[in-house]
Amino acid sequence: MQRGSLELMKKMNQQIIIRIIYNDKAISRARIAEITGLSPAAVSNNVKELMEMGLIKETEHGESRGGRKPVLLEINPEGAYFIGLEWGIAEIRGVLLDLNKKVLARRVEKAESFQLESFVKISRKIVDGLTGQSIEKERVYGLGVGVHGVVDPERGYSLFAPHFRWRDLPVRERLEAEFRIPVFIDNDVRVMALAEKWNGKGNFLLINTGPGIGAAIVFDGKLHYGRDYSAGEFGHMIVMRDGPVCSCGNSGCLEALISTDNLLYRYYPDLEGEITKKELSVKWQELLADAREGREKALEIINMTAEYLGMGLSNLVNLLNPDEIVLAGDFTQAADLLLPLLKEELKKKSLAIAGRGLSLTVTDYGEWLGSVGGAVMVLEKLFLD
Ligand SMILES: [Zn+2]
Repeated sequence: MQRGSLELMKKMNQQIIIRIIYNDKAISRARIAEITGLSPAAVSNNVKELMEMGLIKETEHGESRGGRKPVLLEINPEGAYFIGLEWGIAEIRGVLLDLNKKVLARRVEKAESFQLESFVKISRKIVDGLTGQSIEKERVYGLGVGVHGVVDPERGYSLFAPHFRWRDLPVRERLEAEFRIPVFIDNDVRVMALAEKWNGKGNFLLINTGPGIGAAIVFDGKLHYGRDYSAGEFGHMIVMRDGPVCSCGNSGCLEALISTDNLLYRYYPDLEGEITKKELSVKWQELLADAREGREKALEIINMTAEYLGMGLSNLVNLLNPDEIVLAGDFTQAADLLLPLLKEELKKKSLAIAGRGLSLTVTDYGEWLGSVGGAVMVLEKLFLD
């Protein structure tokens, strides 16, 4: 075998070993040999190198079956760090994660303009802020970015980002030149789904809500992309004949009916023009407070939202039969109002078999879901794929 392929094989074996330790939390060398079929000597050598790299360490938590306690291996959380960014429409969020997926630091900055260079500049500020803590900078293994719009993760291009007015931009190349570490990019909603996936979910739909509505589809732990990377455009599912005109040019799309800005235009008839992020979040909270006080018009909006979202989700449930639907984005703040109604709608509109075991939940990561997912994407690509 040539040296190149030997190196590759060693790297693959090391990845397999890390993945096993990652999933098992603490495991012995002998057990790793059993699972992988590698010889005990090969396991020992690879483990030694991974320990030298600082990625794993020994522990003595093992149960002794008489005699000496077995030495177990576990992940060394400080062995590697990952940075995740979410490039949103109004702001950029960033987190620093350790090898155990613990969030060590967070930063958020306002977007200044939709120029790529502006995003790079703000990302630099965030990354410097995140790594300015007491971590070894050379242990930052990579940067993962969730970008709004259609993204080609293999070439690292933003293919189409309507809000930013981007077409075919080599985002990854630009970021690698800036940061000199491995960079991965993907669509923001798909990146969010990765954070949920590594929390132990295998077959689920992640629904992001807000000014845009999108979905990520995960089956058998794999993201579904579609031929042109554009799968998951849930906001453009048509749920009404001759409905309101959508930004995509069609009419009656879910997004044209229940995106948060469209809901606000309906609730506040005086509201005109583009709503700023700040305005949107203030007014959205106001609307929810009105609904909690039982104001009729606000409750109508909530009911309508549950009805159309329930319709869209029921279609997805009947088509895909997932284990779970996870809600993210603006609607998570309305979970107390929306979830009971949505559950009713789903029960009513989805087929009994498809919906019977379904659970509907809200993400625990709040507004940080996208940036956590960005960092998890790097961890997955480098160590767990
Ligand atoms: Zn549309």
